Amino acid sequence: MVNPLRAVPIAIPTGAAISFAPNAWLALDALGVSHKLDSIYPPVNRISVTNLGTGATQETSLTGKFRDGSGPRFIHRKKLLQTLADELPNGTIHFSSKIAAIDSQTHDGSSPVFIHLVDGTIVKTKFLIGCDGIHSTVARWLGLSEPLNAARSAGLGLAVFPEGHGLNKELRQFVDAGMRAGYVPLNEKEIYWFLVCKSSAEEENKAGNPVLLQKEVLEKYAKVLPPFFLDIVQRSDVSTLHWGPLMFRHPWNVFFGNLSKGNVTVAGDAMHPMTPELGQGGCQALEDAVVLGRHIGNLLIKTKGHIGTTGDNNVAQAIDGYVKERKWRVTGLVIGSYFSGWVQIGGSNWWMKFLRDVIFYRTLLGGLLYKMAGYDCGKLPVVSLGENDSPKVSTKITQI
Ligand SMILES: Cc1cc2nc3c(=O)[nH]c(=O)nc-3n(C[C@H](O)[C@H](O)[C@H](O)COP(=O)(O)OP(=O)(O)OC[C@H]3O[C@@H](n4cnc5c(N)ncnc54)[C@H](O)[C@@H]3O)c2cc1C
Repeated sequence: MVNPLRAVPIAIPTGAAISFAPNAWLALDALGVSHKLDSIYPPVNRISVTNLGTGATQETSLTGKFRDGSGPRFIHRKKLLQTLADELPNGTIHFSSKIAAIDSQTHDGSSPVFIHLVDGTIVKTKFLIGCDGIHSTVARWLGLSEPLNAARSAGLGLAVFPEGHGLNKELRQFVDAGMRAGYVPLNEKEIYWFLVCKSSAEEENKAGNPVLLQKEVLEKYAKVLPPFFLDIVQRSDVSTLHWGPLMFRHPWNVFFGNLSKGNVTVAGDAMHPMTPELGQGGCQALEDAVVLGRHIGNLLIKTKGHIGTTGDNNVAQAIDGYVKERKWRVTGLVIGSYFSGWVQIGGSNWWMKFLRDVIFYRTLLGGLLYKMAGYDCGKLPVVSLGENDSPKVSTKITQI
């Protein structure tokens, strides 16, 4: 999630907050930062879903359902990025470094990667991990397919109640044919809200126009959604509003496509863009970081810090191990997320309602949610190389 070469300084592309299921918290723990966020963002232990058609509400307590006894946490994206970035040595992140092209050449048996930035800089590196998001240049270079439009859109925002909102820490959701909305407090004064609906050309025109989004939600759903939800939308800080189509990579392409080529691979949305209905896209990016870190860490231990691009020291073997370990899980989640979104905002006929209210909410969601959110991606190895603990992995930046 922290991209050392960033196209723009700490961009927050998809809303102001993000939910992290327990599997993401275990990954943050492995990365050594969960303790910095634990007390600021306590878990949500109750979820309720109201069917706006019938008025019936299903409540689920998450207490004791996961390994550490807690449910998902909703956190500010900016705080997350800052916390992760603070772990890196000063000067590791180069802002305004948009990748224009990638080039890999073999000379005397070694295969460095050359990254060409739009400002003319060339970065020479032993390996490249593309964490450049859904429209990844690195994924395109690997030959992965372009993400598909799921024919659904999402709107998000953060409302501020300076005097305090007085709500319990609970996720409240409302479903109706073709629409799902919800809100959850982030802290005592801020409430994060979202709305997912089927896309039309009109909906997609709202992308990049957050004020229009706010107006449309207030007008279009005024008769359907509870007045308190509309009050939350009304109080949103305009800078936190986001509206956009939901995208995913075809699971077939995630599983059978080239997720790596030698010493080049992808992580996060660059590898496995998924629709957000299971709230797992960002969680998977963190798991990627831990698994990749473990494979590279083990190679560093084996080679006493001398990793390269040939023979037994070849970083390509660590990357290959990472891809093999991640492939099954992320493909399953791309499918599960798409299916979950399709069912939740499906049509108004009786069998879609039956599928959503009885099969999905009462039976499937619990099992699916607990299984994928209870996953532990493991720990990072302790790499101790002596000589100031600095691994010999060089990256050379040349301005032309
Ligand atoms: C509406 C919505 C709600 C979501 N809610 C959740 C949720 O609740 N929980 C959850 O876990 N996930 C959620 N997700 C998914 C989550 O937002 C993503 O999976 C996550 O942000 C992926 O992180 P990333 O670092 O891979 O990519 P990004 O966060 O997109 O970061 C990519 C970075 O690469 C940079 N970049 C792009 N192009 C280039 C280039 N050419 N050169 C250099 N740098 C470049 C960008 O500036 C950016 O900094 C949601 C997604 C959406 C759309």
